[in-house]
Parts: sequence; structure tokens; C-alpha cells
Amino acid sequence: MPVVNTVTGPVDVSELGFTLMHEHVLVKSPGVTENFPSVWDREAEIEKAAAKLHDVAARGVKTIVDCTTVDLGRDIQFVAEVAHRSGVQIIACTGMYYDVPRYFHSRSVDAMAELFIQEIREGIAGSGIKAGIIKCATDETGMTVQVEKAVRACARAHRATGVPITTHTYAAGESGARQQDILAEEGVDLSRVIIGHSGDSKDTEYLLRLTGHGSYIGMDRFGLDMFLPTADRVAAIALLCRMGHADRMVLSHDANSYMDWYERWMIEQAAPNWHYNFIPDTVIPALRRAGVTEDQIRQMTIDNPRRIFEQCEPY
Ligand SMILES: [Zn+2]
Repeated sequence: MPVVNTVTGPVDVSELGFTLMHEHVLVKSPGVTENFPSVWDREAEIEKAAAKLHDVAARGVKTIVDCTTVDLGRDIQFVAEVAHRSGVQIIACTGMYYDVPRYFHSRSVDAMAELFIQEIREGIAGSGIKAGIIKCATDETGMTVQVEKAVRACARAHRATGVPITTHTYAAGESGARQQDILAEEGVDLSRVIIGHSGDSKDTEYLLRLTGHGSYIGMDRFGLDMFLPTADRVAAIALLCRMGHADRMVLSHDANSYMDWYERWMIEQAAPNWHYNFIPDTVIPALRRAGVTEDQIRQMTIDNPRRIFEQCEPY
């Protein structure tokens, strides 16, 4: 059985269970807490995050994929501590969000890929904790020179290691299609890619174009009603299930326990349902009411995540 690296060590893919495929433990502005430690209470935040993950574990979730890259302020020791305390398996990522640090602007695609490969083979920042997935991101600003470099670097790290790719997109701009073009140019097998945040769109034609090229689509922003209300997200999934595409969708929230971009009360006010428990508590019952079968729910929450990590040969 293939294994996947989690922050607490390698896990047999058959042990992943119910997996939320795009979450964050913490999202930080790089350098802020390190230089102004008074802005937060790190120990208290570890405890809070562990309690939240403990709660979602009680609802049957066994694994989360943490899509926090260096430019989202990744703190791997924090995440490892939360995994230990909560018992939830956490898969960490390498790769890049779209805030590509200036360091890389003058460096090559291969130099960037080399660092991602190091994080997969040797571990992150000397911790020995290995990344289990590769993230790249395109947003409203599109495929800029630096973003394209990062996407290509992710493609090369993927082919060198066999570790799957997950993406952040601006679904309204159909940026997933552009990512698929670049990844295909790099020789990537698109069935080993999850085009994330696709669930922000209910344009079936766009979603079927992505799955038609073989990729999984992330219906992974439940609770972010400002991008698309829950009822529309549920209806889009139910429709795609009826059309026979439950084998291409994965579910998640893109939520976090700590995010320094806003005060916590602002997040809770703007997106009260944006938390790890929303899918097990509310979305899955809503999918059932919309006609999605138990079999399809199991595919989207257990089987598809396992299949994604099962395919781990470099090529
Ligand atoms: Zn995210």
C-alpha cells in the first residue's frame, strides 16, 4: 500500500479515512508574529486549534490537508503540535501561493522546484517533517510572470516526486483552465491535480471542462457564502453527481483556526459557517436532501482523497 507523509509521519493511504482536502491550521502574514510576537499568544492558539480539530475528529474526519505555503506564513512546528494534540492526521504542503516572495523573482523555475523537492524528500526547514502535497495558486491578477514560474516549479517538483498537486484558483476568472494549460505544457498528468476553489463556481460547463481534462475539482470553500452561497454549492455538487462525476470531486472549507489578515470577530461576522465542522454538521445532510447518495458521499470524502494520494509514482 502506498504511504503519504503527514506531519506526524508516514501513513498508509488506506488509513486516511474521511479527508478534508483543502484547509489551513493557521494563515499568517510572513514575518509578523516572528518579529512582533506580542500580536498573538502562540501557545493559546495551538490549544485552540487542537480543540477545533478534536471536535471535527469527533464527527468522523480523520485527515486534513493543510494548504499553507511559505507565503501564507507556514509554521510547521505549530501544525505538528496541533496534530499531536488533536489526533487528526495533517498533510502539509510545499509549493507557493500567489504572493511569490521577492527572493524568487531573480531565480529560475528549477531553483524553486529544487526547494519544493527538498521539502518533500528531506523535510521542511530542517524539521524532518515532509510535505505530502504541492500547492500552486492563481488569483484575480491572473497568470503573472512570477505566478507562472511557481506553477511550472510545482509541475516539475510533482513529476520528480510523484506527490500530487492542489491549486488555488479565482473561479470567476476560470483560472483553473489556464493552470491546466501550463501544467499540461510541463507534461503533468492532469488526473493527478486538484483544481481548487472550483466550488466557487456553479458554471457546470466550466466545471465539466476541468474534469473533462481529467482533474479533480475542489468543492472546497464551504462557509464562504460571499463567493457562492451554500445552497448553490450543494446544488452544483448534486447536479454533477447526477451526471456521474462524484469520482472527480473532493470537499473542504478552506477554513483556518487562526488567520491574522483580520480580527477573529470580523471573520466570524462575515462568514459564521466558515469552520471545520460545517461539512459534517450541515453540508452532508444537505447533500443527502439534494439526492446525493451515501455511495457518492463516501467517494467524495474518502475514496477520492485515497485515490489522489495512491498515485505516487514519479514520471
Ligand atoms: Zn486555502
